[in-house]
Amino acid sequence: MNWVWVLLIIFWTGGFAWAADNVRTALRNRHERKLQLLEAAKEERLAVEAANRPPEPVCGCTHHLAKHDKQGRCHERVEVPTAWDENKKPLRYEADQCNCQQYVGPQPLSQVFAEDLTDLA
Ligand SMILES: [Zn+2]
Ligand SMILES: [Zn+2]
Repeated sequence: MNWVWVLLIIFWTGGFAWAADNVRTALRNRHERKLQLLEAAKEERLAVEAANRPPEPVCGCTHHLAKHDKQGRCHERVEVPTAWDENKKPLRYEADQCNCQQYVGPQPLSQVFAEDLTDLA
């Protein structure tokens, strides 16, 4: 009758180890899922924050709206190459005004609403 007990014990310990292994794996998976969820929530929060922030009023010429006058011309000083070597690499630069003709970046909200739509004068 002894071998029945041996078989039972082997079966029982083996089954127990298998079950414990499964529980361990399940716990690890759940932990990873939780981490992924936290990560996703963080990304979502960052995206919402970015969407709520007004866009930087920066023109296509890379200069800030403040550098542009009422006509839209950019007054930022830029370095313009005036001499090139045989490899078309600029050798000398000269300070010049940015030749941007019109501000094309996003308008700050305050300015959009402050703009006069009708000329009463
Ligand atoms: Zn510019
Ligand atoms: Zn510009």
